[in-house]
Amino acid sequence: MTHRSHEPRVAIFPGSFNPWTKGHQSILERGLQMFDSVVVMVGVNPLKSSPQRQQSLEHLHRCLDGMERVSILEWDGLTVDAARSVGARFMLRGVRSVADFEYERNLADVNHMISGLETVLLISYPEYSMISSSVVRELQSHGADVSQFIP
Ligand code: ADP
Repeated sequence: MTHRSHEPRVAIFPGSFNPWTKGHQSILERGLQMFDSVVVMVGVNPLKSSPQRQQSLEHLHRCLDGMERVSILEWDGLTVDAARSVGARFMLRGVRSVADFEYERNLADVNHMISGLETVLLISYPEYSMISSSVVRELQSHGADVSQFIP
């Protein structure tokens, strides 16, 4: 898929974001230097709704409140369909490790094959490479302070 120069460059930044971390925030801010707008697409599973999930969605909205060129979309279908629905030709993702890379490459290959969506992978800055939503959730569930990991 070629990009026509007069079209705005829209990227979708899909993820679970449960919760949104400083690692995600960093990828988003760096993505905004490359794209005209970024749609943060939160993968939601209606069957897995919980008070914890709801809190994390509210946290995400607070973190992105007032940010220009950013919008939030909740989606429970295929990422490529979400991308098409907002006119995004690019998908933004972050890579922390070789394990992330293998996973992201597979995702990028499949998404490109089924819809022509182009993936842009940003390598995590070292100060964020150890932050994951699952670790933050684990710490939170035991009452630990996670303020250094989330915006
Ligand atoms: P998913 O369940 O789709 O992997 P996540 O919310 O865990 O959703 O992550 C969304 C994207 O953000 C993924 O590309 C992931 O690799 C990236 N990411 C997560 N944490 C970080 C981090 N600390 N630094 C950079 N990228 C990250």
